[in-house]
Amino acid sequence: MAIDFTFTDEQQMLADTIYKWASTWLDPQMEELDEKDEFPKDFFKELGKLGMVGITIPEQYGGAGLGYTEACICTENLARISNALSMTWGAHLVLCADNIKRNANEELKQKYLPPLCDGTAMGCLGITEPNAGSDAMSMRTTAKLDGDSWVINGSKIFITNAPGGQTLLFYAKTAPELGPKGMSAFIMEIDPWPKGYTCEKIRKFGMRTSPTGLLSFDDVRIPKENLVGEVNKGVAILTGGLTTERITLSGCALGSARAALELSLKYAQERVQFGKPIAANQMIQEKLANMYVGYETGRLLMYSAAAYVDSLTDKRGGKGTVLDMKAAASLLYAGEVSTKICMDGVQIHGGYGYCLEYPIQRHYRDVKLWDIGAGTSEVRRIIIARELLSGTKWA
Ligand SMILES: Cc1cc2nc3c(=O)[nH]c(=O)nc-3n(C[C@H](O)[C@H](O)[C@H](O)COP(=O)(O)OP(=O)(O)OC[C@H]3O[C@@H](n4cnc5c(N)ncnc54)[C@H](O)[C@@H]3O)c2cc1C
Repeated sequence: MAIDFTFTDEQQMLADTIYKWASTWLDPQMEELDEKDEFPKDFFKELGKLGMVGITIPEQYGGAGLGYTEACICTENLARISNALSMTWGAHLVLCADNIKRNANEELKQKYLPPLCDGTAMGCLGITEPNAGSDAMSMRTTAKLDGDSWVINGSKIFITNAPGGQTLLFYAKTAPELGPKGMSAFIMEIDPWPKGYTCEKIRKFGMRTSPTGLLSFDDVRIPKENLVGEVNKGVAILTGGLTTERITLSGCALGSARAALELSLKYAQERVQFGKPIAANQMIQEKLANMYVGYETGRLLMYSAAAYVDSLTDKRGGKGTVLDMKAAASLLYAGEVSTKICMDGVQIHGGYGYCLEYPIQRHYRDVKLWDIGAGTSEVRRIIIARELLSGTKWA
């Protein structure tokens, strides 16, 4: 086993470039954007200048042709400034474009990937429904073939990037009587809204600036050829996508954790109480040390999972694979440890940590999502235990 925990020069340059861009372009706007819950309209245009909008998409479609390790570098370094916009980028690329790359036919790839890579289209993924969250397979949205169109009826909730987005990859039942085996994947163009489609923006306490939508479909027609993969084979696409999504999105949580540690280190050395900086107190030092260990551990888990998936030819994952376990473990740990780290960060900042001028509170509000989104902590534990108990060879 070759173990090398260092980034290549190119990977380090990518990390530095993204963080520098986020610090100079994004950071000065974040307090106001968060207050107004407003998405920065030039976000993808500016990211496009760095060449990272379609980082995991092959160059022939306008991407950079890099791996999931590089995708994690992007989510982590973007989230050091904005966890919410790192999630928006992750949803656009890994949830939408990357799943099209892995599963759609050549015509669909040629049509939909270039605008997703140059940032002229924003992508989103629709799995969750009002009555089908953790139990995603019980979704009720249907797709019925009628002549040259699929007719879509139903709804989706919590869809990142749907308000203002252009390209929706989504799942619907094509044979409801077959349960999970009767599900298929489709692409819908949502800008302008097709007839019968509506999207309502959801108000949230965190991840503000990342638009989240409640969608409804009332006899919405999409072209027959917008089926992704084969009919009734959507479940493998969905589960295969969730593994790489969980690994890459771990970077969102860990980026906030790193920011919390960096902000707290600075604050603890500047804030003087009882005649000395609060960092001189061992109870503050204990928090800082624990924050560091949690962040480093989460980071090792995420990048080892990313390197693992990059090394696989077959990246589908699914029941019986170590990839499913590693992906679930990566986001489970990243979400929980980063939530604790951000909470400790607020504590170190005292009353100022509770005030909107201090970015630590935004990381704290945002990071909680990573115990919930892309399958909750409980669902991730169910996946890991399922594999442990069914004898999957994990060590
Ligand atoms: C900001 C945001 C962005 C999101 N973005 C997207 C997106 O882009 N696309 C998309 O499709 N979805 C998205 N989601 C949806 C997200 O993936 C779901 O919220 C999540 O899967 C949980 O579903 P639920 O909210 O219906 O909770 P529920 O499934 O109702 O769960 C409620 C609670 O019960 C627990 N629970 C449920 N079943 C079990 C069980 N068997 N054992 C133990 N505990 C259980 C859960 O862990 C949770 O704690 C987003 C959500 C948010 C908040």
